Amino acid sequence: MTETVPTPDRPLRLAIIGAGPAGVYTADLLTKAERDFEVSIDLFDRYPAPYGLIRYGVAPDHPRIKGIVKALHKVMDRGDIRFLGNVDFGRDLNLEDLREHYDAIVFSTGAIKDAALDIPGAELQGSFGGADFVSWYDGHPDVPREWPLTAREVAVIGNGNVALDVARMLSKHAEDLLVTEIPENVYAGLKASPVTDVHVFGRRGPAQVKFTPLELRELAHSKDVDLVLYPEDFEFDAASEEAATSNNQIKTMVGTLTNWLVEEQDTGASRRLHLHFLQQPVEILGEDGAVAGLRMERMELDGTGNVKGTGEFTDYPVQAVYRAIGYHGSEVPGLAYDERRGVIPNDAGRVLGADGAPVPGLYASGWIKRGPVGLIGHTKGDALETIGCLLEDQPQLWTARNPDEQAVLNLLESRGIDYTTWEGWLALDEHELALGAEATGSGPVARERVKVVPREVMLAVSRQESVPREAMVLEAAR
Ligand code: NAP
Repeated sequence: MTETVPTPDRPLRLAIIGAGPAGVYTADLLTKAERDFEVSIDLFDRYPAPYGLIRYGVAPDHPRIKGIVKALHKVMDRGDIRFLGNVDFGRDLNLEDLREHYDAIVFSTGAIKDAALDIPGAELQGSFGGADFVSWYDGHPDVPREWPLTAREVAVIGNGNVALDVARMLSKHAEDLLVTEIPENVYAGLKASPVTDVHVFGRRGPAQVKFTPLELRELAHSKDVDLVLYPEDFEFDAASEEAATSNNQIKTMVGTLTNWLVEEQDTGASRRLHLHFLQQPVEILGEDGAVAGLRMERMELDGTGNVKGTGEFTDYPVQAVYRAIGYHGSEVPGLAYDERRGVIPNDAGRVLGADGAPVPGLYASGWIKRGPVGLIGHTKGDALETIGCLLEDQPQLWTARNPDEQAVLNLLESRGIDYTTWEGWLALDEHELALGAEATGSGPVARERVKVVPREVMLAVSRQESVPREAMVLEAAR
């Protein structure tokens, strides 16, 4: 245990692990909080670039999110929060290292894995995690760049916003995504896709969906994609009726879905996006180790908004299944972990040890604190709660033995870690925008940005190492 030596005559040294929205909001809120001591914050990320889920989890055709990026950029660009990218907590630095250099640590590591769907056939070739697919189309540096888009008929399981993102990205024509920041290989993969039908399956009814109205309405905006709905799926029990009258969001979505059902949607488009409800996945069917179908059980509402099986089964002929049934957090080395919920056990953001007591100086914010629910904006309130705890605990902090700002950089350098900085991100940002401008000049469509994917190129550009420009353009396309 580190000895407590109160020395409030120096700034409180805080490390935040994870530079996604939760990490940046936490840093920002602490810098702005009313307090009678100085703070010095290092914001670490395992990727060379900041923004976490915004860069690697949001669908590229969601321009509204750009507003959030601008706000986060403004925070980081002030210069009072130090960004240290390409540093993997648990591998490059461990808890002891951080305890040595910081008085407090906030874990904002998020949730990037797919929740497991425990049905037979989930392991077949052609059965994919929705989050993995998101990582692919968002150009995540650590996932393979090849994605087998060979299926004509595809199932997406789940009725949350990720299921809608996945279904929209699978059904949209690649040309319509060129204006976004998709990496070159994603454009090429989507362009070659032979898909004709994407089926989205919700296990409950239209009044129990987890997605949100704007995201739902967006489905109607894809060119040359018809929406298909089924009258038998529009079943409402007492709880559904109640939800559809008392909850504006549900009312809007039920209204949108019902309009789509009754209005003629068949325009003879070359692709169709089917929305099915009250269908529970039972088994992914295989042939020679690959997905050949999906067996669903018809469900019925039980009066409370939950469902029970009817014993009626339908086999859908699909060649790929995307499981978009939620994210799951990953264990953080050195901390207790709630495997079932995928979170760090905590009390309002104070990290709890195996004995259930708060561990001094350790905090959590964002999805690793409360689980993968809520929109990005919700993370702010959550960060505020965590910061409140830290401010309350502040007299007991100041425990770092080596709080000098340079000391941690020396440690990283001594371990050969090629960390990146905010200036490095500005260089990478400019480079990606320039690649977009270049691609615009050589093609018919204005490209906003071309995202660089390989980690080594991200690093070289961020660290402004001399890599021949041609090589960087080629590498970016990989
Ligand atoms: P989610 O909102 O929790 O939705 C998960 C869906 O999977 C639910 O419909 C759930 O049904 C279903 N499900 C769970 N287990 C299942 C099973 N065993 N079989 C069949 N279906 C199952 O999760 P998410 O879509 O991953 O989204 C996570 C968060 O990120 C949400 O807050 C979401 O709004 C947010 N997000 C927002 C955007 C955006 O554009 N604004 C984009 C992506 C994500 P039940 O309801 O019956 O459990």
